[in-house]
Amino acid sequence: MLKAYSYAAAAADKPLGPLEIQRRDVGPNDVRIDILFCGVCHSDLHMARNEWGGSNYPVVPGHEIVGRVAEVGADVSKFKVGDLAGVGCMVDSCRVCASCQEGLEQFCESPESFTQTYNSPDKKSGGFTAGGYSTSIVVDEAFTLSIPGNLELAAVAPLLCAGITTYSPLRHWNVQKGQKVGIVGLGGLGHMGVKIAAAMDAHVVLFTTSPGKIEDAKRLGAHEVVISKDAAQMATHANSFDFILNTVAASHDLDQFMALLKRDGTMTLVGAPEHPHPSPSVMNMIFKRRSLAGSLIGGIAETQEMLDFCGKHGITSDIEMIRMDEINNAHERMLKSDVKYRFVIDMATMEK
Ligand SMILES: [Zn+2]
Ligand SMILES: [Zn+2]
Repeated sequence: MLKAYSYAAAAADKPLGPLEIQRRDVGPNDVRIDILFCGVCHSDLHMARNEWGGSNYPVVPGHEIVGRVAEVGADVSKFKVGDLAGVGCMVDSCRVCASCQEGLEQFCESPESFTQTYNSPDKKSGGFTAGGYSTSIVVDEAFTLSIPGNLELAAVAPLLCAGITTYSPLRHWNVQKGQKVGIVGLGGLGHMGVKIAAAMDAHVVLFTTSPGKIEDAKRLGAHEVVISKDAAQMATHANSFDFILNTVAASHDLDQFMALLKRDGTMTLVGAPEHPHPSPSVMNMIFKRRSLAGSLIGGIAETQEMLDFCGKHGITSDIEMIRMDEINNAHERMLKSDVKYRFVIDMATMEK
């Protein structure tokens, strides 16, 4: 076992604080990564505070991990010591079910589903998995990603969750050059959606309720910005979208966006609301054969494809770097959407 330093929540009502943890010895297929940066995702906060139920304490959050390979097992072929490497939301799955066989590990059909990077039962060392708010992690190479060398490393970290969560639906619904694509919401997810859809040469329209975000959305690559509270402005876009990616996690009226889809258009939801959205109008869907869908992160192969795509197009997240001991304040600010657009922890600041 190898000692690692982490930040953990000891209970739902406790702030995160330093905790020494153990990482398993490197097995034949394992890669040990010295973590350099870890992005801060909303899930981290939900899990630390047990807002979805089922949190197992202590919780060491973090699933937007980048670092350098420090040790590899005897049978590892994809990585060598010194390589850049990343880990996202999954560290293992059953690998034999139909979804795993198709490279869709995020939909693993085994009873326990995939092994989450933190707070999942740890099949290899017992206890529960501990995430990236730590100095190192040991992961099977099958769940370890290669990081393009041309990107700013700290700003790559959020691609491992926010990046793949938006890339996967844009790919799955086959967004093409010249198509009209809407992105709803300009937060951690939305700002990645804008960048990636623009790099796919779509005509990108950002929907926001905040006029203050217009300039920033255009800087990030949006061709148009629509204030979704403005019914007249919304009406000018009726029946015109091929695809809409909705990143908003708060309960809201979906019909106002469904009405903007062309015949056969799809709106895909990637935000998980605490309270349900009002039911969408069935008539609205029937008359234009419109679809409403959901999407969850992406498989490992697709996550690698996304990283390579971002390397090719020079895409990273817009980040605000923080020290490890600033994490509790960062979680508070994230709750108020007071971040442009993702916090990333500089792991060199971890207390040892
Ligand atoms: Zn996440
Ligand atoms: Zn499976």
